[in-house]
Amino acid sequence: MDKLIKTKEFDIIIIGGGATGLGCAVDAASRGYKTLLLEKSDFSKGTSSRSTKLVHGGVRYLAQGNIHLVREALLERGRLLRNAPHICHSSRFIVPAYNWWQKWFYGFGLWFYELLSGSLSLGKTRLLSYKQVLNYLPEIALKNLSGGVLYFDGQFDDSRLSINLAQTAIEKGAVVLNYCGVTDFLKNGSSIAGVKAKDETNGNEFSIAAKVVINATGVFADTLLQLAEGHKDQTISPSQGIHVVVEKHFFKGSVGMMIPKTDDGRVLFAIPWHNKVLIGTTDTPVSEISPEPKPLKEEVDFILKHFNRYSTSEIRYQDIKSVFAGLRPLAKLDGETKTSVMPRDHVIKVLPSGLVHVTGGKWTTYRSMAESAVNKAVRSAGLTFFGCQTKNLKICGFADNQVNTSLSVYGSDALHIQKLIDGDDSLKEKIHPLFSYTKAEVEWIIENEMALTVEDILARRTRLLFLDAKAAMEAAPLVARMLALQTGKDEGWEIKQVKSFSLLVGNYLIRNPH
Ligand SMILES: Cc1cc2nc3c(=O)[nH]c(=O)nc-3n(C[C@H](O)[C@H](O)[C@H](O)COP(=O)(O)OP(=O)(O)OC[C@H]3O[C@@H](n4cnc5c(N)ncnc54)[C@H](O)[C@@H]3O)c2cc1C
Repeated sequence: MDKLIKTKEFDIIIIGGGATGLGCAVDAASRGYKTLLLEKSDFSKGTSSRSTKLVHGGVRYLAQGNIHLVREALLERGRLLRNAPHICHSSRFIVPAYNWWQKWFYGFGLWFYELLSGSLSLGKTRLLSYKQVLNYLPEIALKNLSGGVLYFDGQFDDSRLSINLAQTAIEKGAVVLNYCGVTDFLKNGSSIAGVKAKDETNGNEFSIAAKVVINATGVFADTLLQLAEGHKDQTISPSQGIHVVVEKHFFKGSVGMMIPKTDDGRVLFAIPWHNKVLIGTTDTPVSEISPEPKPLKEEVDFILKHFNRYSTSEIRYQDIKSVFAGLRPLAKLDGETKTSVMPRDHVIKVLPSGLVHVTGGKWTTYRSMAESAVNKAVRSAGLTFFGCQTKNLKICGFADNQVNTSLSVYGSDALHIQKLIDGDDSLKEKIHPLFSYTKAEVEWIIENEMALTVEDILARRTRLLFLDAKAAMEAAPLVARMLALQTGKDEGWEIKQVKSFSLLVGNYLIRNPH
């Protein structure tokens, strides 16, 4: 805030602290531009904490013939795994086949997928026998199983990467604020000359001048676009995707499974994630855009039906530990209502007001989207052009050759957390008996990761809410106490935090609808 107040004019203001906005902030700051990022809620509160956690080219887009998108994403996959190895890693996936034709068909497709990644290939695609599939996936449905295909893709922790991107942008000189939303634009005639913003923690409002503004607010982008342009055009078709999380014993082994064709013609993944299994996703057109989208019963049914079709260990409603929904900011196609066929490419436009509007895309391609968006912003504002620096930029937390422990997701910061534990026995204590998260992590997060609420800590710094909603609720009072003590808040604030978190948890719990 101090730095913001002291800066007379920024070169670039970025609105939105999801994958796209944070990518733009890292890109702009590392080129040397005076950069400000404003996020209304917490970093990755929107879609960017609710993905399938894949760093991938998108096998499905290959089937749709979108080779350009797949090739670009595979290139970016390689870069991300190289620049953030502490948070992104290579994983094996199996596509089960129920006749010889499927096996060769998927085998060929996935071989081509690997070929497209060129020297950034993560490993060789190969055909598997019936017995080999069974070794990898002990719970696979056996009737008519003829074998399968093994291929490699990337996996990551989305909201942890967001925090590392915010840290990287700050390290490169950007001002990066969460809980600070843009409410309006400053204008010079019809051209945008900055933004009006509100500090959501105390209601203070202020105006900030900038040479150019980037709108990276995902599914919320149309609200700002309409404010900037003074019309009611809609550019986004939101599509909801949900995931359910269950215990590991429903899907043993360390590989993921891709179900190649669901009843609505898409793919479905079951992926080991933080010692649980993440299953998803769906593609449901929605009209309401909310920061907390709600999973629909038919979406949960859809996921259970497809998973149970491929597995001998049946999942029921009561087995679900957490369920979460996210909204895809798909670029609208005139006359098209089916969101599953809408392109996943990103769209970047410079609008008549000068606002740079960026939507669509994927987490995997956040870096290349940011590069293009900043290029456009710099040119449209007539700023001196400096080239992109992010292709080989190590992301904060970078640590290769790391030993795999529960602290690995913190990358190089794991050392500092370990020091806290070594220096104070009480910080070894877990925040929930069933999970490895310790008080030391919470203390570190509060001091170093800009977490302001219980939700920030339990949903996006640790992933407890996404892994087990009931456990997250049980951990909330302790986390609220630590947060209040460390930030000097009173008991009333602490009680309010627990209350509002409990309300939120309701969205992630399955209340048996049968
Ligand atoms: C179900 C699902 C699964 C997915 N799986 C994958 C996957 O496995 N791999 C992959 O690569 N991609 C995946 N994606 C795509 C990827 O998650 C998205 O493309 C990406 O997260 C979009 O990021 P964003 O920054 O554009 O939007 P968001 O993450 O939604 O960020 C926008 C931000 O803007 C903020 N904001 C809104 N209004 C304002 C304002 N007035 N002022 C300031 N801030 C504001 C919001 O609070 C929000 O944090 C998936 C998407 C979905 C929905």
